[in-house]
Amino acid sequence: MDIVYTCHGAAKEVTGSCHLLECSGKRLLIDCGMFQGGHQQEAANAAPFGFDPASIDVLLLTHAHLDHCGRIPKLVREGFRGRILATGATRDLARIVMLDAASLQEEDARRAQRGGRRRGESAAQPLFTLDDALHAMDYFAEPVAYGSDMALFDGIHARFLDAGHILGSASVLLKLKTGDRACSVLFSGDIGQSGRPILRDPVPAPEADYVVMETTYGDRPHRALPDSVDELYRAVRVTLARGGNVIIPSFALERAQEILYYLRQGMQQGAIPSHVPIFLDSPMAISATEIFRRHPECFGDAFLQVLRKDDPFAMPNLHFSRDTAQSMAINHIESGAIILAGSGMCTGGRVLHHLRHNLWRERCSVVFVGYAAHGSLARSIIDGARNVRIYGEDVQVKAQLWTINGFSAHADQGALLAWLGTARRTRVLLVHGEYERGMHAMEQCLDKAGVACQVPEQGEAISLSRQDVLQAN
Ligand code: ZN
Repeated sequence: MDIVYTCHGAAKEVTGSCHLLECSGKRLLIDCGMFQGGHQQEAANAAPFGFDPASIDVLLLTHAHLDHCGRIPKLVREGFRGRILATGATRDLARIVMLDAASLQEEDARRAQRGGRRRGESAAQPLFTLDDALHAMDYFAEPVAYGSDMALFDGIHARFLDAGHILGSASVLLKLKTGDRACSVLFSGDIGQSGRPILRDPVPAPEADYVVMETTYGDRPHRALPDSVDELYRAVRVTLARGGNVIIPSFALERAQEILYYLRQGMQQGAIPSHVPIFLDSPMAISATEIFRRHPECFGDAFLQVLRKDDPFAMPNLHFSRDTAQSMAINHIESGAIILAGSGMCTGGRVLHHLRHNLWRERCSVVFVGYAAHGSLARSIIDGARNVRIYGEDVQVKAQLWTINGFSAHADQGALLAWLGTARRTRVLLVHGEYERGMHAMEQCLDKAGVACQVPEQGEAISLSRQDVLQAN
Protein backbone atom coordinates (compact mmCIF):
# COMPACT_ATOMS: atom_id res chain seq x y z
CA MET A 1 0.00 0.00 0.00
CA ASP A 2 1.39 3.31 -0.99
CA ILE A 3 0.58 6.98 -0.50
CA VAL A 4 0.75 8.75 -3.83
CA TYR A 5 0.59 12.41 -4.83
CA THR A 6 -0.16 13.55 -8.39
CA CYS A 7 -0.23 17.14 -9.59
CA HIS A 8 -3.13 17.68 -12.03
CA GLY A 9 -2.86 21.48 -12.23
CA ALA A 10 -0.51 24.33 -11.23
CA ALA A 11 2.55 22.24 -12.21
CA LYS A 12 5.15 24.82 -13.30
CA GLU A 13 2.37 27.38 -13.70
CA VAL A 14 0.31 29.59 -11.44
CA THR A 15 -3.25 28.65 -12.31
CA GLY A 16 -5.38 25.48 -12.43
CA SER A 17 -4.53 24.16 -8.95
CA CYS A 18 -5.60 20.51 -8.66
CA HIS A 19 -3.81 17.91 -6.53
CA LEU A 20 -4.68 14.25 -6.09
CA LEU A 21 -3.70 12.25 -3.02
CA GLU A 22 -4.31 8.50 -2.85
CA CYS A 23 -4.16 6.48 0.35
CA SER A 24 -5.83 3.23 1.50
CA GLY A 25 -8.04 3.10 -1.56
CA LYS A 26 -9.36 6.61 -0.88
CA ARG A 27 -8.87 9.45 -3.34
CA LEU A 28 -8.64 13.01 -2.06
CA LEU A 29 -8.53 16.05 -4.27
CA ILE A 30 -7.09 19.31 -3.00
CA ASP A 31 -8.54 22.19 -5.05
CA CYS A 32 -10.00 21.97 -8.53
CA GLY A 33 -9.17 25.31 -10.12
CA MET A 34 -9.41 26.80 -13.54
CA PHE A 35 -6.47 27.49 -15.84
CA GLN A 36 -6.37 31.21 -16.60
CA GLY A 37 -4.47 33.56 -18.88
CA GLY A 38 -4.56 33.42 -22.69
CA HIS A 39 -6.50 31.10 -25.02
CA GLN A 40 -3.87 28.38 -24.74
CA GLN A 41 -4.12 28.20 -20.94
CA GLU A 42 -7.90 28.36 -21.02
CA ALA A 43 -8.13 25.53 -23.58
CA ALA A 44 -6.64 23.25 -20.90
CA ASN A 45 -9.89 23.55 -18.92
CA ALA A 46 -11.72 21.50 -21.54
CA ALA A 47 -9.15 18.67 -21.45
CA PRO A 48 -9.87 15.56 -19.35
CA PHE A 49 -8.88 15.88 -15.68
CA GLY A 50 -6.41 12.99 -15.82
CA PHE A 51 -8.47 11.00 -13.26
CA ASP A 52 -12.06 9.83 -13.03
CA PRO A 53 -14.11 12.51 -11.18
CA ALA A 54 -16.53 9.79 -9.98
CA SER A 55 -13.65 8.09 -8.15
CA ILE A 56 -12.91 11.09 -5.86
CA ASP A 57 -14.12 10.61 -2.29
CA VAL A 58 -13.55 14.08 -0.93
CA LEU A 59 -12.46 17.48 -2.23
CA LEU A 60 -10.68 19.81 0.18
CA LEU A 61 -10.94 23.38 -1.05
CA THR A 62 -8.27 25.81 0.21
CA HIS A 63 -9.97 29.02 -0.96
CA ALA A 64 -12.46 30.55 -3.36
CA HIS A 65 -10.22 32.04 -6.05
CA LEU A 66 -11.20 30.85 -9.53
CA ASP A 67 -7.84 29.17 -10.09
CA HIS A 68 -8.58 26.96 -7.06
CA CYS A 69 -12.35 26.30 -7.31
CA GLY A 70 -13.24 27.09 -10.96
CA ARG A 71 -13.40 23.53 -12.32
CA ILE A 72 -15.59 22.15 -9.49
CA PRO A 73 -18.80 22.44 -11.61
CA LYS A 74 -17.04 20.50 -14.40
CA LEU A 75 -15.96 17.90 -11.80
CA VAL A 76 -19.59 17.47 -10.69
CA ARG A 77 -20.84 17.46 -14.30
CA GLU A 78 -18.42 14.58 -14.99
CA GLY A 79 -19.50 12.44 -12.07
CA PHE A 80 -18.01 13.66 -8.76
CA ARG A 81 -20.41 12.80 -5.92
CA GLY A 82 -18.12 13.10 -2.89
CA ARG A 83 -18.03 15.70 -0.11
CA ILE A 84 -16.51 19.17 -0.50
CA LEU A 85 -14.82 20.49 2.63
CA ALA A 86 -14.17 24.21 3.02
CA THR A 87 -14.55 27.02 5.56
CA GLY A 88 -17.91 28.82 5.62
CA ALA A 89 -16.47 31.96 4.00
CA THR A 90 -14.86 29.88 1.24
CA ARG A 91 -18.16 28.08 0.57
CA ASP A 92 -20.07 31.38 0.30
CA LEU A 93 -17.43 33.02 -1.90
CA ALA A 94 -16.95 29.89 -4.07
CA ARG A 95 -20.68 29.97 -4.80
CA ILE A 96 -20.54 33.41 -6.42
CA VAL A 97 -17.22 32.67 -8.14
CA MET A 98 -18.57 29.45 -9.71
CA LEU A 99 -21.87 31.07 -10.72
CA ASP A 100 -20.02 33.97 -12.31
CA ALA A 101 -17.71 31.56 -14.18
CA ALA A 102 -20.71 29.54 -15.36
CA SER A 103 -22.52 32.58 -16.72
CA LEU A 104 -19.33 33.64 -18.57
CA GLN A 105 -19.02 30.08 -19.97
CA GLU A 106 -22.62 30.16 -21.20
CA GLU A 107 -22.17 33.62 -22.70
CA ASP A 108 -18.95 32.59 -24.52
CA ALA A 109 -20.61 29.46 -25.85
CA ARG A 110 -23.58 31.47 -27.15
CA ARG A 111 -21.22 33.89 -28.89
CA ALA A 112 -19.19 31.01 -30.38
CA GLN A 113 -22.39 29.28 -31.50
CA ARG A 114 -23.51 32.39 -33.38
CA GLY A 115 -20.12 32.62 -35.14
CA GLY A 116 -19.97 28.84 -35.63
CA ARG A 117 -23.40 28.64 -37.25
CA ARG A 118 -22.32 31.26 -39.78
CA ARG A 119 -19.34 29.06 -40.65
CA GLY A 120 -21.45 25.89 -40.63
CA GLU A 121 -19.65 24.38 -37.62
CA SER A 122 -21.18 22.19 -34.92
CA ALA A 123 -22.46 24.02 -31.82
CA ALA A 124 -19.90 25.10 -29.20
CA GLN A 125 -20.68 23.86 -25.69
CA PRO A 126 -19.94 25.67 -22.42
CA LEU A 127 -17.41 24.00 -20.11
CA PHE A 128 -20.23 23.95 -17.55
CA THR A 129 -23.55 25.68 -17.00
CA LEU A 130 -25.27 27.63 -14.23
CA ASP A 131 -27.11 24.41 -13.36
CA ASP A 132 -23.79 22.60 -12.93
CA ALA A 133 -22.52 25.38 -10.62
CA LEU A 134 -25.69 25.20 -8.51
CA HIS A 135 -25.50 21.39 -8.47
CA ALA A 136 -21.90 21.65 -7.21
CA MET A 137 -23.15 23.57 -4.15
CA ASP A 138 -25.08 20.45 -3.05
CA TYR A 139 -21.83 18.68 -2.24
CA PHE A 140 -20.46 21.24 0.21
CA ALA A 141 -20.47 19.66 3.69
CA GLU A 142 -20.85 21.55 6.97
CA PRO A 143 -18.33 24.44 7.12
CA VAL A 144 -14.91 23.55 8.49
CA ALA A 145 -13.55 25.52 11.45
CA TYR A 146 -9.90 26.56 11.45
CA GLY A 147 -7.71 24.39 13.69
CA SER A 148 -10.11 21.50 14.26
CA ASP A 149 -8.99 17.93 13.55
CA MET A 150 -11.28 15.98 11.27
CA ALA A 151 -11.21 12.22 10.77
CA LEU A 152 -12.12 11.87 7.08
CA PHE A 153 -11.64 8.10 6.80
CA ASP A 154 -9.88 5.39 8.73
CA GLY A 155 -6.25 6.59 8.93
CA ILE A 156 -6.88 9.92 7.16
CA HIS A 157 -7.11 13.12 9.21
CA ALA A 158 -7.31 16.74 8.02
CA ARG A 159 -6.88 20.13 9.63
CA PHE A 160 -7.46 23.58 8.05
CA LEU A 161 -5.16 26.42 9.11
CA ASP A 162 -5.68 30.11 8.38
CA ALA A 163 -3.58 31.00 5.31
CA GLY A 164 -4.24 34.77 5.58
CA HIS A 165 -4.64 35.05 1.78
CA ILE A 166 -8.31 35.91 1.20
CA LEU A 167 -11.40 35.63 3.38
CA GLY A 168 -11.77 31.98 4.47
CA SER A 169 -8.48 30.82 2.93
CA ALA A 170 -6.71 27.82 4.41
CA SER A 171 -3.68 25.61 4.26
CA VAL A 172 -4.58 21.95 4.70
CA LEU A 173 -2.61 19.48 6.80
CA LEU A 174 -3.31 15.81 6.09
CA LYS A 175 -2.12 12.93 8.27
CA LEU A 176 -2.21 9.64 6.44
CA LYS A 177 -1.67 6.06 7.54
CA THR A 178 -1.92 2.89 5.50
CA GLY A 179 -0.64 -0.49 6.76
CA ASP A 180 2.81 0.18 8.18
CA ARG A 181 3.21 3.39 6.18
CA ALA A 182 2.42 6.88 7.37
CA CYS A 183 3.15 10.43 6.41
CA SER A 184 1.89 13.96 6.84
CA VAL A 185 1.38 16.30 3.89
CA LEU A 186 0.77 20.02 4.14
CA PHE A 187 -0.85 21.81 1.19
CA SER A 188 -0.03 25.50 1.48
CA GLY A 189 -2.95 26.73 -0.63
CA ASP A 190 -2.07 30.35 -1.34
CA ILE A 191 -0.17 32.01 1.49
CA GLY A 192 -0.96 35.60 2.40
CA GLN A 193 1.36 38.40 3.42
CA SER A 194 1.40 39.31 7.12
CA GLY A 195 0.31 42.69 8.46
CA ARG A 196 -2.74 43.19 6.25
CA PRO A 197 -5.64 45.36 7.41
CA ILE A 198 -8.56 42.91 7.23
CA LEU A 199 -7.30 39.36 7.74
CA ARG A 200 -5.19 37.62 10.34
CA ASP A 201 -1.58 36.69 9.55
CA PRO A 202 -1.02 33.25 8.02
CA VAL A 203 -0.47 30.42 10.54
CA PRO A 204 3.15 29.24 10.05
CA ALA A 205 3.58 25.80 8.50
CA PRO A 206 3.30 23.05 11.12
CA GLU A 207 5.63 20.02 11.04
CA ALA A 208 4.98 17.83 8.00
CA ASP A 209 6.94 15.24 6.04
CA TYR A 210 5.92 16.88 2.79
CA VAL A 211 4.86 20.42 1.97
CA VAL A 212 3.19 21.13 -1.38
CA MET A 213 3.94 24.82 -1.61
CA GLU A 214 2.92 27.74 -3.80
CA THR A 215 5.74 29.84 -5.29
CA THR A 216 3.87 32.66 -7.07
CA TYR A 217 6.23 35.37 -5.80
CA GLY A 218 9.12 33.09 -4.80
CA ASP A 219 11.59 35.29 -6.66
CA ARG A 220 11.07 38.74 -5.16
CA PRO A 221 10.22 40.93 -2.23
CA HIS A 222 7.03 42.99 -2.34
CA ARG A 223 7.14 46.67 -1.82
CA ALA A 224 6.29 47.63 1.74
CA LEU A 225 2.56 48.05 2.20
CA PRO A 226 2.66 51.70 3.46
CA ASP A 227 4.69 52.69 0.36
CA SER A 228 2.14 50.98 -1.87
CA VAL A 229 -0.76 52.75 -0.15
CA ASP A 230 1.07 56.08 -0.62
CA GLU A 231 1.61 55.30 -4.29
CA LEU A 232 -2.10 54.55 -4.70
CA TYR A 233 -2.94 57.92 -3.16
CA ARG A 234 -0.37 59.62 -5.43
CA ALA A 235 -1.89 57.95 -8.51
CA VAL A 236 -5.33 59.24 -7.48
CA ARG A 237 -4.12 62.80 -6.73
CA VAL A 238 -2.02 63.14 -9.90
CA THR A 239 -4.75 61.76 -12.16
CA LEU A 240 -7.59 63.81 -10.69
CA ALA A 241 -5.45 66.97 -10.82
CA ARG A 242 -5.00 66.61 -14.59
CA GLY A 243 -8.65 65.80 -15.16
CA GLY A 244 -8.58 62.08 -15.80
CA ASN A 245 -10.21 58.93 -14.43
CA VAL A 246 -8.46 56.28 -12.36
CA ILE A 247 -9.19 52.73 -13.51
CA ILE A 248 -8.31 49.97 -11.06
CA PRO A 249 -8.70 46.46 -12.56
CA SER A 250 -9.40 44.52 -9.45
CA PHE A 251 -10.02 41.01 -8.24
CA ALA A 252 -13.50 40.85 -6.75
CA LEU A 253 -12.45 38.95 -3.66
CA GLU A 254 -10.29 40.67 -1.07
CA ARG A 255 -8.46 43.11 -3.34
CA ALA A 256 -11.55 45.18 -4.10
CA GLN A 257 -12.47 45.30 -0.39
CA GLU A 258 -8.91 46.18 0.63
CA ILE A 259 -8.65 48.97 -1.94
CA LEU A 260 -12.00 50.38 -0.76
CA TYR A 261 -10.70 50.26 2.80
CA TYR A 262 -7.54 52.21 1.83
CA LEU A 263 -9.47 54.75 -0.23
CA ARG A 264 -11.75 55.38 2.72
CA GLN A 265 -8.74 55.77 5.02
CA GLY A 266 -7.06 58.13 2.51
CA MET A 267 -10.15 60.32 2.44
CA GLN A 268 -10.37 60.40 6.23
CA GLN A 269 -6.70 61.35 6.47
CA GLY A 270 -6.89 63.96 3.70
CA ALA A 271 -4.44 62.06 1.47
CA ILE A 272 -6.98 62.12 -1.39
CA PRO A 273 -9.97 64.41 -2.00
CA SER A 274 -12.98 63.31 0.03
CA HIS A 275 -15.59 64.14 -2.60
CA VAL A 276 -14.24 61.94 -5.41
CA PRO A 277 -16.87 59.49 -6.67
CA ILE A 278 -15.83 55.84 -6.43
CA PHE A 279 -17.57 53.19 -8.52
CA LEU A 280 -17.43 49.54 -7.60
CA ASP A 281 -18.49 48.23 -10.98
CA SER A 282 -18.55 44.52 -10.35
CA PRO A 283 -21.61 42.54 -9.26
CA MET A 284 -19.30 39.87 -7.89
CA ALA A 285 -17.25 42.35 -5.82
CA ILE A 286 -20.50 43.81 -4.45
CA SER A 287 -21.72 40.33 -3.44
CA ALA A 288 -18.28 39.52 -2.01
CA THR A 289 -18.41 42.68 0.09
CA GLU A 290 -21.73 41.45 1.55
CA ILE A 291 -20.14 38.06 2.31
CA PHE A 292 -17.29 39.86 4.09
CA ARG A 293 -19.82 41.45 6.40
CA ARG A 294 -21.21 37.99 7.25
CA HIS A 295 -17.90 36.41 8.26
CA PRO A 296 -16.33 38.39 11.09
CA GLU A 297 -14.79 35.11 12.37
CA CYS A 298 -12.16 35.55 9.63
CA PHE A 299 -11.12 39.09 10.61
CA GLY A 300 -8.01 40.17 12.49
CA ASP A 301 -8.38 42.06 15.79
CA ALA A 302 -7.58 45.50 14.35
CA PHE A 303 -10.29 45.20 11.72
CA LEU A 304 -12.83 43.91 14.26
CA GLN A 305 -12.23 47.09 16.24
CA VAL A 306 -12.84 49.27 13.16
CA LEU A 307 -15.99 47.26 12.52
CA ARG A 308 -17.31 47.92 16.03
CA LYS A 309 -17.25 51.67 15.30
CA ASP A 310 -18.73 51.77 11.81
CA ASP A 311 -19.01 50.06 8.45
CA PRO A 312 -15.61 50.23 6.74
CA PHE A 313 -17.09 49.52 3.32
CA ALA A 314 -19.61 52.34 3.42
CA MET A 315 -18.84 55.81 2.06
CA PRO A 316 -21.34 58.43 0.87
CA ASN A 317 -19.43 58.79 -2.41
CA LEU A 318 -19.20 55.03 -3.08
CA HIS A 319 -21.55 53.80 -5.80
CA PHE A 320 -22.30 50.13 -6.42
CA SER A 321 -23.13 49.25 -10.03
CA ARG A 322 -24.91 45.94 -10.15
CA ASP A 323 -26.74 46.16 -13.44
CA THR A 324 -25.44 46.82 -16.93
CA ALA A 325 -27.23 50.18 -17.33
CA GLN A 326 -25.48 51.55 -14.23
CA SER A 327 -22.18 50.24 -15.55
CA MET A 328 -22.68 51.80 -18.98
CA ALA A 329 -23.54 55.16 -17.40
CA ILE A 330 -20.01 55.27 -15.94
CA ASN A 331 -18.62 55.25 -19.49
CA HIS A 332 -19.92 58.80 -19.93
CA ILE A 333 -17.81 60.15 -17.07
CA GLU A 334 -14.84 61.97 -18.64
CA SER A 335 -12.92 62.85 -15.52
CA GLY A 336 -12.69 62.83 -11.75
CA ALA A 337 -13.79 59.26 -10.97
CA ILE A 338 -12.16 56.19 -9.45
CA ILE A 339 -13.48 53.04 -11.11
CA LEU A 340 -12.87 49.58 -9.66
CA ALA A 341 -13.93 46.79 -11.99
CA GLY A 342 -13.09 43.17 -12.73
CA SER A 343 -11.48 41.14 -13.92
CA GLY A 344 -8.16 41.82 -12.22
CA MET A 345 -6.17 40.40 -15.15
CA CYS A 346 -8.44 42.19 -17.67
CA THR A 347 -9.28 38.86 -19.33
CA GLY A 348 -12.97 39.75 -19.39
CA GLY A 349 -15.64 41.57 -17.44
CA ARG A 350 -16.62 45.21 -17.20
CA VAL A 351 -13.09 46.55 -16.85
CA LEU A 352 -12.69 45.98 -20.60
CA HIS A 353 -15.33 48.66 -21.31
CA HIS A 354 -13.60 51.09 -18.97
CA LEU A 355 -10.23 50.39 -20.60
CA ARG A 356 -11.75 50.97 -24.02
CA HIS A 357 -12.97 54.38 -22.86
CA ASN A 358 -9.92 55.44 -20.85
CA LEU A 359 -6.77 53.56 -21.86
CA TRP A 360 -6.11 55.78 -24.92
CA ARG A 361 -6.44 59.01 -22.93
CA GLU A 362 -3.20 60.51 -21.54
CA ARG A 363 -5.02 62.18 -18.68
CA CYS A 364 -6.23 58.88 -17.25
CA SER A 365 -4.42 56.27 -15.18
CA VAL A 366 -4.66 52.51 -14.95
CA VAL A 367 -3.52 51.19 -11.60
CA PHE A 368 -2.64 47.49 -11.50
CA VAL A 369 -2.83 46.13 -7.97
CA GLY A 370 -2.62 42.37 -8.51
CA TYR A 371 -1.06 39.44 -10.29
CA ALA A 372 -1.25 39.32 -14.10
CA ALA A 373 -0.75 35.89 -15.68
CA HIS A 374 1.05 35.23 -18.96
CA GLY A 375 -1.22 35.83 -21.94
CA SER A 376 -3.61 38.14 -20.07
CA LEU A 377 -4.43 41.64 -21.32
CA ALA A 378 -3.18 43.15 -18.04
CA ARG A 379 0.18 41.44 -18.59
CA SER A 380 0.51 42.80 -22.16
CA ILE A 381 -0.24 46.33 -20.98
CA ILE A 382 2.18 46.05 -18.03
CA ASP A 383 4.85 44.59 -20.35
CA GLY A 384 4.66 47.71 -22.54
CA ALA A 385 2.26 46.98 -25.42
CA ARG A 386 1.53 50.22 -27.29
CA ASN A 387 -1.69 48.92 -28.80
CA VAL A 388 -4.08 46.31 -27.50
CA ARG A 389 -7.22 44.68 -28.94
CA ILE A 390 -10.37 45.17 -26.90
CA TYR A 391 -13.65 43.78 -28.29
CA GLY A 392 -12.13 43.64 -31.77
CA GLU A 393 -10.93 47.25 -31.69
CA ASP A 394 -7.36 48.54 -31.58
CA VAL A 395 -6.88 50.73 -28.53
CA GLN A 396 -3.72 52.76 -27.93
CA VAL A 397 -2.08 52.58 -24.52
CA LYS A 398 -1.55 56.22 -23.56
CA ALA A 399 -2.90 56.40 -20.02
CA GLN A 400 -0.35 56.52 -17.23
CA LEU A 401 0.33 53.01 -15.90
CA TRP A 402 0.98 52.22 -12.26
CA THR A 403 1.96 48.74 -11.13
CA ILE A 404 1.78 48.56 -7.38
CA ASN A 405 2.72 45.07 -6.24
CA GLY A 406 2.66 45.73 -2.47
CA PHE A 407 -1.08 44.96 -2.39
CA SER A 408 -0.49 41.38 -3.40
CA ALA A 409 -2.48 38.85 -1.39
CA HIS A 410 0.47 36.48 -1.87
CA ALA A 411 3.46 36.10 0.39
CA ASP A 412 6.71 37.35 -1.15
CA GLN A 413 9.97 35.37 -1.13
CA GLY A 414 10.91 36.25 2.45
CA ALA A 415 7.40 35.60 3.73
CA LEU A 416 7.21 32.21 1.96
CA LEU A 417 10.50 31.12 3.52
CA ALA A 418 9.43 32.43 6.93
CA TRP A 419 6.09 30.58 6.64
CA LEU A 420 7.84 27.32 5.73
CA GLY A 421 10.64 27.61 8.29
CA THR A 422 13.69 26.15 6.57
CA ALA A 423 15.35 24.58 9.59
CA ARG A 424 13.19 21.48 9.52
CA ARG A 425 13.44 18.10 7.92
CA THR A 426 10.74 18.23 5.35
CA ARG A 427 10.52 17.64 1.63
CA VAL A 428 8.99 20.42 -0.40
CA LEU A 429 7.08 19.98 -3.66
CA LEU A 430 7.00 23.30 -5.50
CA VAL A 431 3.82 24.21 -7.39
CA HIS A 432 1.73 27.26 -8.32
CA GLY A 433 4.47 29.42 -9.85
CA GLU A 434 6.02 30.26 -13.21
CA TYR A 435 9.04 28.01 -13.41
CA GLU A 436 11.47 30.67 -14.69
CA ARG A 437 10.38 33.09 -11.98
CA GLY A 438 9.07 32.24 -8.52
CA MET A 439 9.51 28.49 -8.67
CA HIS A 440 13.14 28.27 -9.76
CA ALA A 441 14.16 31.04 -7.36
CA MET A 442 12.48 29.19 -4.49
CA GLU A 443 14.20 25.97 -5.57
CA GLN A 444 17.55 27.76 -5.32
CA CYS A 445 16.72 29.27 -1.90
CA LEU A 446 15.71 25.87 -0.51
CA ASP A 447 18.77 24.14 -2.00
CA LYS A 448 20.93 26.72 -0.26
CA ALA A 449 19.13 26.15 3.03
CA GLY A 450 19.61 22.37 2.64
CA VAL A 451 15.89 21.65 2.27
CA ALA A 452 15.08 18.84 -0.16
CA CYS A 453 12.72 20.00 -2.89
CA GLN A 454 11.22 18.80 -6.11
CA VAL A 455 9.23 20.32 -8.96
CA PRO A 456 6.37 17.98 -9.99
CA GLU A 457 5.37 17.70 -13.63
CA GLN A 458 1.72 17.71 -14.68
CA GLY A 459 0.36 14.18 -14.18
CA GLU A 460 3.54 12.84 -12.54
CA ALA A 461 2.75 10.40 -9.69
CA ILE A 462 5.08 10.76 -6.71
CA SER A 463 5.25 8.17 -3.94
CA LEU A 464 5.14 9.85 -0.53
CA SER A 465 5.97 6.84 1.59
CA ARG A 466 9.72 6.90 1.02
CA GLN A 467 11.98 4.96 3.35
CA ASP A 468 13.52 7.97 5.12
CA VAL A 469 10.09 9.40 5.85
CA LEU A 470 8.97 6.03 7.23
CA GLN A 471 11.92 6.00 9.61
CA ALA A 472 11.13 9.52 10.75
CA ASN A 473 7.68 8.33 11.73
ZN1 ZN B 1 -5.55 32.66 -4.38
